Amino acid sequence: MPGQGLLKGLGITMRNFVRPTHTVQYPDRKVGLLGAAKHAGQNPLKFLRENPREGIKALLYMATVPEKVEQATRFRGNEFTWYETRCTGCASCAKYCPLGIIKIVTHPGGIDVQEGESYAIDVFDIDTGRCMFCGLCVEACPYDALHMGSQFERGNYVRNDLVIDVDELRGNLKRPSSWYRPQFEEREFNPFKGKTIDEEDHHDAGRHEQPSPDELKQRWVDERK
Ligand code: SF4
Ligand code: SF4
Repeated sequence: MPGQGLLKGLGITMRNFVRPTHTVQYPDRKVGLLGAAKHAGQNPLKFLRENPREGIKALLYMATVPEKVEQATRFRGNEFTWYETRCTGCASCAKYCPLGIIKIVTHPGGIDVQEGESYAIDVFDIDTGRCMFCGLCVEACPYDALHMGSQFERGNYVRNDLVIDVDELRGNLKRPSSWYRPQFEEREFNPFKGKTIDEEDHHDAGRHEQPSPDELKQRWVDERK
């Protein structure tokens, strides 16, 4: 029948036209009056009265509200989460990084002397401008001291500003990704919701613990019995 192909094509177009869309507007979402009022926690009339300018924009569907994109808990953000209390300065992370972008400088820390002495950290630089988010450094860390982070809005105009140094690592908000960290998934920890796992909660960040000085002494005695 002539025109059958045309009708078929229009049918497909119409079907896609009414399908729900999955595109997320980011970082701001355009909203109408209802959306803007809901975001402000007001009813639409009150919102219009108290914010006439924004209200007119909302009536024209030109108001915007910030949009939070839902992320997977295993997202590999490269701001990194580091627990200094768990770190022995072994530099395994630096050795495993295929791009060689982790620089660690240490000095003998006088810690765990009987276990061979672990190191104190002087320099811990990660050049995230070259990082490819592979996470091998995190896999290599034997003490669960280094974790992938959960952030991604780290754009910058100066390459050198992308180098994370030890002070930044210390100060970073501790929202570790659960990637390669089953202990977080077992506890249903979500880096995007609820409380962070701060340095003082470092026990929660690892699968095993460094022995205490008393345990080390006891082990030394036991081994020589
Ligand atoms: S995520 Fe990969 S590239 Fe980035 S620092 Fe770790 S090992 Fe290197
Ligand atoms: S972060 Fe882990 S692998 Fe890297 S130096 Fe510290 S303990 Fe070693």
